[in-house]
Amino acid sequence: MSTLSKIWLSSPHMGDNEQKYVKEAFDTNWVAPLGPNVDAFEAAIATYIENDTHVAALTSGTGAIHLALEILGVGHGDEVLCQSFTFSASANPIMYLGATPIFIDSERDTWNLSPILLEKAIKDRIAHGKKPKAIVAVHLYGMPYKVKEIAEISKKYDIPVIEDSAEALGSTHEGLKCSSFGTIGVLSFNGNKIITTSGGGAMVTKHLDYKKKAIFLATQARDDAPHYQHSHVGYNYRMSNILAGIGRGQMEVLDDRVAARRANHQMYFDELSGIAGIEFLPEPKGYFSNRWLSCILTPSFEYREKIRMALLAQNIESRPLWKPMHLQPIFSKCLAFTDGTSEDLFDRGLCLPSGSNLSKEDVNRVISIIKNF
Ligand SMILES: *Cc1c(COP(=O)(O)O)cnc(C)c1O
Repeated sequence: MSTLSKIWLSSPHMGDNEQKYVKEAFDTNWVAPLGPNVDAFEAAIATYIENDTHVAALTSGTGAIHLALEILGVGHGDEVLCQSFTFSASANPIMYLGATPIFIDSERDTWNLSPILLEKAIKDRIAHGKKPKAIVAVHLYGMPYKVKEIAEISKKYDIPVIEDSAEALGSTHEGLKCSSFGTIGVLSFNGNKIITTSGGGAMVTKHLDYKKKAIFLATQARDDAPHYQHSHVGYNYRMSNILAGIGRGQMEVLDDRVAARRANHQMYFDELSGIAGIEFLPEPKGYFSNRWLSCILTPSFEYREKIRMALLAQNIESRPLWKPMHLQPIFSKCLAFTDGTSEDLFDRGLCLPSGSNLSKEDVNRVISIIKNF
């Protein structure tokens, strides 16, 4: 084993005030899944996202997707269109509800949902008498998807969009923040995300009734009665006031974290983009990525694996791009509309260490290994 210090792919990065807000929760005994930190965290997110959004703080991004699907009426036997090139948490909640995911490949400009394949799938399903109930679109690695094109298709066929912004807090499209575009937006505060509450998530929506419904479902779906009465199946998905305290502190440093991740990406780009065969994903005009993870494409699977192993030998964590959902054993029987894009990205792509707490020396260590390669 190498004695060199470990460089992580993406590790938590606390600011100055997280412990202050957590201590306040202890001092006032708000050690519960509600309280002043939850309210203030939700308000801080809504203020940041702007665009008249309402926010419900939850235990995870996965839970937020689950509630979003349920609120949009997805149930047993329904079909939901889902970006294939993503983390499995985008698709799993479709299965929780007894619905079936149909996977859609990506385009090359943003690596996200292909509008062409999306429309092809919608037409095919309608022709089969099965109009999809929702679209799960993802801003992967922080790069916004084709917001305008996806919104047009959603409107044309009247199918709501769940905007999985778990990796894209701080990213913008035409100056507007990610998570404010879909019918319902989803954020994650898991430990490896751009900011974290150790574990947590949120639903973002312009529809106040959706926020209310989310909180109702997330707190065991209690009817309005003095005793415990239930007419719905409920969940235990509300965020703890302790974790929301961490979130309040993290929101204060979010813009610094975005700047630091983008600076990492710029260093990699400046030093590595000249190497033959190494490619980066540029920001299309009007797109601003938080560069949650810095990704490179290499000439081949073998080349990618050699770089990954060379980094590992020096105690540096890197990771292949997400394995597309339509290639996952669990989803192998699902219908998929593909054109080879995400399979190619998965074969050749590598996520490099990207944390906002990396030093310039850390990034240079990664760069020199790839350069010497
Ligand atoms: C992290 C992530 C999620 C799930 O969020 P959790 O808070 O970990 O449940 C969903 N979708 C994508 C694309 C993610 O990266």
